[in-house]
Amino acid sequence: MPRKLPVWTPSADQLQHWPTISGNAINGVGEAAVRRPSPIYWHPPDSTPHGPLQRWFYARTASNDPDIVAARADRQAAIDEPLAPLAETVVDKPAAAWSTEVKRVARELGADDVGIAVMRADYVFEGHAVPTQRWMIVLAVGQDYEAMRTAPSSRALVEVTRQYARGTRCAKRLANWLRGQGHDAFPYGGPMAGSFLLIPPAIAAGMGELGKHGSLIHRSLGSNFRLACVLTDVPLVEDAPDRFGADDFCTNCRVCMDACPPDAIAPVKQLVRGVLRWSVDFDKCLPYFNENMGCAICLAACPFSRPGVAPKFIAKLAERATRPREP
Ligand code: SF4
Ligand code: SF4
Repeated sequence: MPRKLPVWTPSADQLQHWPTISGNAINGVGEAAVRRPSPIYWHPPDSTPHGPLQRWFYARTASNDPDIVAARADRQAAIDEPLAPLAETVVDKPAAAWSTEVKRVARELGADDVGIAVMRADYVFEGHAVPTQRWMIVLAVGQDYEAMRTAPSSRALVEVTRQYARGTRCAKRLANWLRGQGHDAFPYGGPMAGSFLLIPPAIAAGMGELGKHGSLIHRSLGSNFRLACVLTDVPLVEDAPDRFGADDFCTNCRVCMDACPPDAIAPVKQLVRGVLRWSVDFDKCLPYFNENMGCAICLAACPFSRPGVAPKFIAKLAERATRPREP
């Protein structure tokens, strides 16, 4: 069925900052060989070809909106919270006990879900050292659906910024709690990228499946959440990916595709750095994102994101999977 939305085009003002290299080429779309990801956005702007666009976006949205200014100041305050010194006395427990304890503390500190993955070199951006810590504690923090439904809007951007601040605080306080137990731990909160990707370890940690819109679909939060992470050496137990049928569902759903103004969401999976997966056209998405308050339309449009809907969908998908197939 054809799209009802006319395809949006970027302004000349933004295009003058656009680099000659395609973001899809940097991301490795169409590449058959497996390789580490390349830094592209949310890195120090002087270090990437799209850095001037990142500055352009930030300047546009800093504006005179007091709510955005306040949300960004609060996120900065979360980033600036100090990292606790490493305690000299090291608390010893079996890995299973640490895993239970870490998840309990993370939830008490504000995470809506927590999963554990092993750090892998292929999560780490080229040019960056692979972190020495073995474990990644991945944290999910949900966003207010009513605010996100207004995307693209300053209200949605404020909500995204607030949740990045919440994720950052949760990660930092969890890291500080671990450091107080004598175990090395380092927090990471978005949107600025650290030295590694977050979505692949989040999938490994059971935080959901990759959706057609290029973001995660979580079994209760849908796509309406942000990620944060703690790297640590405390002994832990790895979680398993949570496969509940979202990937399959996306094959026949086009809600996000139809809702995306610049038509950036591909209808079929693409080969990206040697892996066949859902992928968003960076060169189409980013200009709209930059001119429209960080967009996020696709996250709110995804039917899994509607409050209370994801568990019902998942039950139906499970029931459908048990039906006998036609010969
Ligand atoms: S963030 Fe906006 S522009 Fe980008 S894929 Fe989603 S709906 Fe499209
Ligand atoms: S809107 Fe549909 S196709 Fe897009 S991510 Fe959600 S379930 Fe998948």
